[in-house]
Amino acid sequence: MIAAGVRVGALQAGLPLDPLENRILLCHALGLSRVGLITQSEREISAAEASALEALIERRLGGEPIAYIVGKREFFGLDFRVTDAVLIPRPDTELLVELALDRLPPGGRALDMGTGSGAIAVAIAHTRPDASVSALDVSEAALAVARSNAAAHGAAVRFMHSDWYGAVAGEVFELIVSNPPYIADGDIHLSQGDLRFEPSGALTDHADGLSALRTIIAGAPAHLVRQGWLLMEHGYDQAAAVRQLLAEQGFSEVQSWLDLAGIERVTGGRTR
Ligand code: GLN
Repeated sequence: MIAAGVRVGALQAGLPLDPLENRILLCHALGLSRVGLITQSEREISAAEASALEALIERRLGGEPIAYIVGKREFFGLDFRVTDAVLIPRPDTELLVELALDRLPPGGRALDMGTGSGAIAVAIAHTRPDASVSALDVSEAALAVARSNAAAHGAAVRFMHSDWYGAVAGEVFELIVSNPPYIADGDIHLSQGDLRFEPSGALTDHADGLSALRTIIAGAPAHLVRQGWLLMEHGYDQAAAVRQLLAEQGFSEVQSWLDLAGIERVTGGRTR
């Protein structure tokens, strides 16, 4: 029970989460920035603020991801709005953005398949205003979040409601990127931590974990220019299988890259 009248500075130390999460929720409940929390440390909290903070802490103690509670997460140096209609952007996915930026030629066309919050597409478009960035998702609710993120960052992204390549028939791109659902049906991780609260359609293919990756790889040659790149994020144990699928489709320069934890996390290849 958080009491009204407690000073902001004294309150912070007494909250039950880890220090970073305590601070994030305190800032959110009081509408303060990190600096505001320090400059207003002598302020006493009101009854309304106490109950608002208590409600946020209860949600976190119930396991809800902090990004959903505060409605945002930083990715590639940009704040992204997130709701439970979209996967929470992960730092590992910044690797995919960096690899894409290195390979997108000036004025190039990029396609992000299964954009979710729009994190990948918006990060690319924000960094490279010269590029034509398109992004698709099968979820209208996700597209609404993605559109608001593009607008917030002034990123020109063309969004499409599409079941994989459905909406881009006849179009070609210099680069295709995707962080598709790649967790196998029934994987233990789906019942742990933040994943319990994220949209299952963004996490799992409800099959062996490779079915979305297979669909993306099979359709890519028809949607890439010559020497175009396909880059995909995948699970910790899927790199060899994804390289094999790319090789079978005739891709060249097939290779995998390591994430921050040293795990093969992104695999890609180039059309001939
Ligand atoms: N990287 C996420 C996780 O394992 C999964 C994201 C995805 O399926 N694309 O937490």
